[in-house]
Amino acid sequence: MLDSEFFRRWMSATAVSVDREAASLTALDSPIGDADHGSNMQRGFLAVVTTLDKEPPATPGAVLVLAGRQLISTVGGASGPLYGTLLRRTGKALGDADEVSEADLAAALRTGVDAVATLGGAAPGDKTMLDALLPAVDALGDGGSFAAARAAADAGAEATTPMLARKGRASYLGERSIGHQDPGATSSALLIAALSDAAG
Ligand code: ADP
Ligand code: MG
Ligand code: MG
Repeated sequence: MLDSEFFRRWMSATAVSVDREAASLTALDSPIGDADHGSNMQRGFLAVVTTLDKEPPATPGAVLVLAGRQLISTVGGASGPLYGTLLRRTGKALGDADEVSEADLAAALRTGVDAVATLGGAAPGDKTMLDALLPAVDALGDGGSFAAARAAADAGAEATTPMLARKGRASYLGERSIGHQDPGATSSALLIAALSDAAG
């Protein structure tokens, strides 16, 4: 079972990896965006960890709802509301249990990812964060391990390179968006990888 401590470790591990990868996330956002994705994620998850440390929520659901709210209020770009919605809706779907199973988390994450798709209007193959998140929730939902979800998210992020962007800033480039890995799919793979870090 996964308790609120596990969810705080997940958020901390995400903060550590987006901090470590900030320069490369921003470099990915340079040719097909506005070169701020690394700093957006870094600022957002630093604020998440600070808030969670100040007043640690008692349940898994409350940890993710607070984290999501913090991202929405801290990050101005497209990624703030999208990641904020992902975490907030996943947290709401977990309810107020003190502990949740991996299957509960898989189902809740599915709800969160669906909310991202509704908010952003993106479909699979549009070269967005969904291209990493959807394969990850599919892998988890099949009773897969966090390691399997991580591998699926990594492969999903890499598979965005040949895609034509249909949503967000990269879509303004049309055909010129082809040949670059999507920054948001790349940070989503870090978020999913942090799950296995938190479990290990
Ligand atoms: P901004 O584009 O406002 O500068 P970021 O650079 O932080 O925001 O985030 C860009 C990432 O957000 C993209 O790489 C993409 O993965 C994701 N994104 C943008 N628009 C959408 C959308 N409509 N649906 C899903 N993801 C999106
Ligand atoms: Mg950007
Ligand atoms: Mg921006």
